[in-house]
Amino acid sequence: MSAPFLQKPASSRVVLKFGGTSVADLDRIANAAEFIKLEADAGHGVIVVVSAMAGETNRLVDLVQRVDSTGNSAEFDRREYDAVVSSGEQVTSGLLALTLQRHGYKARSWQGWQIPLKTNDAHGRARIMDIPEAAIGPAVDAGEVAIIAGFQGITEAQRISTLGRGGSDTTAVALAAALGAERCDIYTDIDGVYTTDPRITSEARRLDRISYEEMLEMASLGAKVLQTRSVELAMAYNVQLRVLSSFANPEEARSGKLQPCTVICNEDEIVEKHIVSGITHSHAEAKISLMTVPDEPGRAARIFEELAAADINVDMIVQSPAKTGKAANISFSLDEGDVARAQELLATLKDTIGYTDVVADRSVSKVSVIGVGMKSHAGVAATMFKTLADRSINILNISTSEIKISVLIHSEYTELAVRALHQAYGLHTIAEAS
Ligand code: ASP
Ligand code: MG
Repeated sequence: MSAPFLQKPASSRVVLKFGGTSVADLDRIANAAEFIKLEADAGHGVIVVVSAMAGETNRLVDLVQRVDSTGNSAEFDRREYDAVVSSGEQVTSGLLALTLQRHGYKARSWQGWQIPLKTNDAHGRARIMDIPEAAIGPAVDAGEVAIIAGFQGITEAQRISTLGRGGSDTTAVALAAALGAERCDIYTDIDGVYTTDPRITSEARRLDRISYEEMLEMASLGAKVLQTRSVELAMAYNVQLRVLSSFANPEEARSGKLQPCTVICNEDEIVEKHIVSGITHSHAEAKISLMTVPDEPGRAARIFEELAAADINVDMIVQSPAKTGKAANISFSLDEGDVARAQELLATLKDTIGYTDVVADRSVSKVSVIGVGMKSHAGVAATMFKTLADRSINILNISTSEIKISVLIHSEYTELAVRALHQAYGLHTIAEAS
């Protein structure tokens, strides 16, 4: 018999994720353990997600590539690629569990297959299909810290899968959603999300809050803090994310000092809204132009259908009249890594499409201005174009959405453009709290 007041309320659960630099060696792992202990001591059920030690996944990917004599990643058995590259996280999960045990805490490691974190069979970039809470939930509620190897899962066919580079972020957010965690803290080597890359300008400012929508654009347009998929999931399941530094002093945190961080949340939870919240850049862009394509219905459709069928993502598209005859030049931007495949494909279509030449340019970058304020403020694009024009930076392509404007420019001007735009939108005047 149990009266309601005798029932112990389920303790609140929190998910903490530690990226590669936060578990880079045993000292860093010991430091991460201090942040975990804080949460456990506060009475939370603690679920921890770890990345591989810094540099480890790159090392493993490189080993796989060296076995493959063609050096062409499309050639090898992606299931074995996953078996190899998922191993870095296994090591850190065990080391962190051991460290916590040393300090007298109950802790155990969980590999993806033990949960089981089920994914589809798109090896190397798998999607999470299901995370049953039955295995981890009760263990955590009973006071055991669950240390989960990020980035990995298991397919229906019982093969190990990985979630794509940076996938531990997605593991963390998915677990927070599946286990009903009250928050998901992403510990990294920087204390939040910045208005732009602080390595480009010392005027970059940490944002106290940013909306899911903006973070999604930032992540997919070059900011490297979070895997894009993790932000999509956080938005879909309303998981509140905090980005904070594991290089902070855990003693200060224990004494109650507020940690600087960025909260990623719904737009309506943000009081101080900025018209523009960030400037991102990406060098991993390229531009392909098809010259003198006959100007008649169906040609563009054919080009982009074929590229889509080959799983080549195209971003900015520009069509302009060619100098001669009734023809157009069509150019588009794409991931630098897809250029060779796109060129091969287009070569096979030369006669059907009817272009005269194809030109690829890898020395281009994409610079983007992001902000939810654009929805309600005019002139954001004009400011961008004017700022670039004043620096004589030529715009090659443009693309926009409701909350972002991206331009393609020559790579050599990337940093100049980022600094100038950061100034032009007054981002250096944003005040950082705490
Ligand atoms: N270790 C994996 C990577 O480097 C996953 C992660 O750290 O998020 O991509
Ligand atoms: Mg990462």
